[in-house]
Amino acid sequence: MPRHVPTRLSVRCPWCHAPTGEPCTVPSNGRRLPTPHDARLTAVSTDVEAPPAHQDPP
Ligand SMILES: [Zn+2]
Repeated sequence: MPRHVPTRLSVRCPWCHAPTGEPCTVPSNGRRLPTPHDARLTAVSTDVEAPPAHQDPP
């Protein structure tokens, strides 16, 4: 069974710029974080739920 990879990693972290599929890190020392940054979680939910911003009126 492969290592658990949270779906949070399906987007690039806008905070630490961890690439897609890579865990968040601390930019100053390169340490991997056990949990993604909040900004990344927000980016995921934004990406997944993608609210209809500009729909043409019927
Ligand atoms: Zn991050």
